[in-house]
Amino acid sequence: MLGEGILKGMAETAKNFFGSYVSKERMTTVEYPEERIPTIEAARVFPFLVYDGADWEAGLRCVACQICEKECPPKCIYIDKSKDKKPDYVGKQQFYPTRFDIDVSVCMSCQICVEVCPFEAIKMDNEFELATDDRFGGLLYDRKQLARSNEYYHSIHPTEASQVDARLGEEKAKVEAKAKAAAEAAAAKTAASAPPAPPTGGGS
Ligand code: SF4
Ligand code: SF4
Repeated sequence: MLGEGILKGMAETAKNFFGSYVSKERMTTVEYPEERIPTIEAARVFPFLVYDGADWEAGLRCVACQICEKECPPKCIYIDKSKDKKPDYVGKQQFYPTRFDIDVSVCMSCQICVEVCPFEAIKMDNEFELATDDRFGGLLYDRKQLARSNEYYHSIHPTEASQVDARLGEEKAKVEAKAKAAAEAAAAKTAASAPPAPPTGGGS
């Protein structure tokens, strides 16, 4: 029937409108900011940088590879790579960002930076109350402002963060197993190439 969808929609609206006077479940809005709807796990606003451990600077996972900077569509990521290196989560020496800024006034929350990062170093935050009257400086976040602990990541995206931890754990176990095998092979080679021990005396 022509217009059936419109009638159904109007009936649903009427049901919610009158029902909201007697049932809270029919309310489709809340009195924000006094009242808040819990944020869903898949919510994403702007990116943050994940760090492991207690020290945000030492624990940043980012190795300043600059892939996200190149792939970001509106070019709102600014990275300077360090001259020296520090160990990453598997103990491999890596560069790190001496500068990592994101201009969130330009960011369009596309999540491409997260998708392309090979190091699980950048993820999407769900914090949205970021209003400021400083249009430029106030919305250009540096690496310290962007740093969030892995525990925080777990608190906002528990399913995704657990999957990431499992992946990183597997990777770390593989690297450790490889290093152990290499050390054992080196030890065996050294033992095989060692000169034979001189015969012990015993003649008369
Ligand atoms: S979410 Fe998109 S726009 Fe924002 S920093 Fe990442 S890649 Fe750039
Ligand atoms: S966040 Fe990821 S992709 Fe971006 S520079 Fe750091 S390691 Fe590379």
